[in-house]
Amino acid sequence: MNVNNKLTFDSLDPADWTGFRAQAHALLDAAVDQMQTGHDGPVWRPLPDATKDNLNVPLPAVGAPITEVVSALENLLPYGVGNTHPRFFGWVHGSGGAASLLAEIAAAAMNANLGGRDHGAIYVEKQVLGWVREMFGFPAGASGLVVSGTSMATIVALKVARDARLSARKAGVGAHRLVGYASDQAHNCVSRAFDMLGLGSDALRAVPVNAAFEMDIAALQEMIAADVAAGKEPFLLVGTAGSVNVGAFDDLVALADIAAAKGLWLHIDGAFGAAGVLSETLQPRLKGLDRADSVAFDFHKWLHVNYDAGFVLLRDEALHRAAFEGAPDYLEGAARGLAAGRPWPVDYGPELSRGFRALKIWAQITALGTEALGAAISRNCAQAQLLAAMVDAEPSLKRLAPVASSVVVFADKRGDAVTEEIVLRLQESGQAVPSLTTVNGRKAVRVNITNHRTTDEDLRVLMAVCVTP
Ligand SMILES: *Cc1c(COP(=O)(O)O)cnc(C)c1O
Repeated sequence: MNVNNKLTFDSLDPADWTGFRAQAHALLDAAVDQMQTGHDGPVWRPLPDATKDNLNVPLPAVGAPITEVVSALENLLPYGVGNTHPRFFGWVHGSGGAASLLAEIAAAAMNANLGGRDHGAIYVEKQVLGWVREMFGFPAGASGLVVSGTSMATIVALKVARDARLSARKAGVGAHRLVGYASDQAHNCVSRAFDMLGLGSDALRAVPVNAAFEMDIAALQEMIAADVAAGKEPFLLVGTAGSVNVGAFDDLVALADIAAAKGLWLHIDGAFGAAGVLSETLQPRLKGLDRADSVAFDFHKWLHVNYDAGFVLLRDEALHRAAFEGAPDYLEGAARGLAAGRPWPVDYGPELSRGFRALKIWAQITALGTEALGAAISRNCAQAQLLAAMVDAEPSLKRLAPVASSVVVFADKRGDAVTEEIVLRLQESGQAVPSLTTVNGRKAVRVNITNHRTTDEDLRVLMAVCVTP
């Protein structure tokens, strides 16, 4: 028999694997270079017009040589948002890490779909769930899911909370009476979840905060009583562990007590702050977290897994599954074979096709361990205190909030226009990237230090620009 290895058709694989391998090695070198030395340059630089033009071409009918593809990928490397740079302090971004690069290579080679079934990737996600339970002191039966970020984690958690109270899966929410509570500093992903779950964002009450930007507990109790008197049904209390604007932590123990007394579901938004359980500095602020019914948080913020990697943790696995499961014929499980191992991730969330985010989480924690990750958080907290002291020593600046964790907010005493100008000048010069926010009605330079590369010297560079007239 004369077997010809040449296929009679072309698959979509590279025709020349040797050439592909050489290009892949070159790209890997460029990517490692970017990670190792990318922070030598400016924090942020606008994408050049020529590159923008290259990203505005008609749909290609014919493929390009792999050398051209790799060259375009290499050219793009320096134009990230800037969050891998030690002087990136904008919004709340993690700064990423080398372990994610390795995991992403392996994940791409496997092309695993983590909606379900019985294969290696599923066990990695189960390992991550086990670690999350351990980090937060949740019981062995608690369930969870890797998701894109805290926004999605919040939707999943609040759907479980809603369905635990209301038979809405088939009938819809109808004219419901449910109301929930979060502080007026809560991230807007909570009100967006209310919207998307059909509860309406008006059903989320904004509880005022005290001078430390923590939920005012007395006000919360009054609001609950008023709602009950008006015939509403309080069902949910959302605590914030690390508020996005100023980094404040609600008193989670007080919230857990109230939730227990009033029969409310306690959800914690710990997008960046929940990772503080690994830090000696922040751990005391997270007391009570282990009493929550659900927690939403990100691995891509203060744990520096590359984007995107969030997580939702649910205390009650049965309620979690009841909010999402449903097995159509084509997704039937089995006792043996590839379709074994039900329940699957699809039974715990809205996505069927799911990528292998769990691998970069696994790689980061395995490579670094919780002690180093926690120490980096503690160092950032100390740096925020240092920066606050530097601001306080500056006659032209005024600090606008106490520093509870990683965030320092301050204004130029000459007013909003000058404050705004400081932020824009820093960003455009590429020297540092803080963001602009409003605190108690005043424009503020907002410096958030969730960055394992930041040195104390970087803070002095930042301050030098903030006080230049
Ligand atoms: C970043 C953040 C979110 C949103 O998380 P994503 O991962 O961006 O979806 C929610 N809450 C807080 C407190 C945050 O800092």
